[in-house]
Amino acid sequence: MKLKLYNTLSRKKEEFKPIKKGEVGFYGCGPTVYWYQHIGNLRRYVFEDVLYRTLVYNGFKVKHIINVTDVGHLTSDSDDGEDKVEKAAKKEGKTTEEITSHYFDAFQEDLKKINFIQPTKWTWATKHIKEQIALVKKLEEKGFTYKTSDGVYFDTSQLEDYGRLALLDVAGLKAGKRIDMGEKKNKTDFALWKFSTSGGKRQQEWDSPWGVGFPGWHLECSAMSSKYLGEQFDIHTGGIDNMSPHHINEIAQSETAFGKKPWVKYWLHNNHLNLKEGKMSKSSGKIIRLKDLEEKGYTALEFRYFLLTSHYRKRTAFDFKTMDAAKTAYERLRNKISELKDDKKINGKYLEEFEEAVNDDLNTSRALQVLWKMVRDEKTGGQIGAIKKMEEVLGLDLLKKGKKEKIPKKILDLVKEREKARKDKDWGKADEFREEIKKQGWIVGDLTNGKSGVEKLLFHNELGII
Ligand code: AMP
Ligand code: ZN
Repeated sequence: MKLKLYNTLSRKKEEFKPIKKGEVGFYGCGPTVYWYQHIGNLRRYVFEDVLYRTLVYNGFKVKHIINVTDVGHLTSDSDDGEDKVEKAAKKEGKTTEEITSHYFDAFQEDLKKINFIQPTKWTWATKHIKEQIALVKKLEEKGFTYKTSDGVYFDTSQLEDYGRLALLDVAGLKAGKRIDMGEKKNKTDFALWKFSTSGGKRQQEWDSPWGVGFPGWHLECSAMSSKYLGEQFDIHTGGIDNMSPHHINEIAQSETAFGKKPWVKYWLHNNHLNLKEGKMSKSSGKIIRLKDLEEKGYTALEFRYFLLTSHYRKRTAFDFKTMDAAKTAYERLRNKISELKDDKKINGKYLEEFEEAVNDDLNTSRALQVLWKMVRDEKTGGQIGAIKKMEEVLGLDLLKKGKKEKIPKKILDLVKEREKARKDKDWGKADEFREEIKKQGWIVGDLTNGKSGVEKLLFHNELGII
């Protein structure tokens, strides 16, 4: 079956054909570890994970690299402003290593909970300074760099198609309103190396042929991807905000240095998960973390389900009403699946439909619909076998047995009261007890042996409990 992916380079869905038969080099832009990752960031990694799983599902051997930005990401995209990690270290009174390892560890905990499969390697920018300096040297030798008083810059005016990926209107930019360029020759030129002197005392700095300083943010991705995946590879991902200027600058420096065009064959970008009120961003402080969802009673996998119900390229707003609906659907799905018998067969018809959906540019919402249709189809067999396969892509723990929740004493007391009312034939009172039990999230039923059965009421709708 063909795998089709939407390639930002062509703005089309294309059949995926790797450079080397059966093997895939896959690089994703990862976190800047100066603060916690929010649920918007987690959308990025669920997309990354589904793509990885889909490639593996299709039989490819995948080398998956994700970078960790622990230096050089400035608070402004135009090569000025503070280094985010240095700024956080100053604010929290810690070393930069303490900052980056703390936020990386917190991020890993979230990834584990959302069933993210670990990449082949996490590559840290500060562990690849040598490679980054070598790349700047290469660009310098080719005559694409120039030095100013605050750093070494890439001269974008030498490239005819600079900004192609983002459909950047360079001519329009030139004619547009004045922006502070400092000593830059062109508005789109970007820093490859910044001198320490430009931003006050720093904890992280290195010697270089041009002066003591630190690498520009875009440099790490070109240097590290080529080290681990070669000078040309198959897939590069990021959030849509990474497209410009980050990815267009990665392309500019890589295509110039390595002479391969296109440097990366398929570019995939996930859209953002935002709040109704606007952008979810660390700088604005308006963010929700996985921990916040858990505190409100949602699980990480319910959140994963929520994400899978919409396509990764669709802009999505997070709200609790939709999250409630996802929670209900996920619980219901798991319940339905727990009632199925394993006949040791695999339902080929539904599995094929499922594969068609995920291979159509990772259409997970359609894939979930197929799963639902199969689970509801009482006349079909082989469901458990098919779910086992589907789970390789979905990663929702649909077949894992959950722990049964212990019935609280106050509920058991109410059940006893209700039994007593029923014995006294006080039906009104018995109904009142039933309602009270329901309000508290449990459901009571009458068993054939005259006793009561109590179950956790799983399904909530937006009005509360039904
Ligand atoms: P950062 O830690 O800010 O460098 O972001 C890590 C990754 O998350 C980047 O690839 C961003 O493009 C992506 N990202 C940031 N905000 C969002 C969002 N609200 N929704 C989806 N992805 C995001
Ligand atoms: Zn990157």
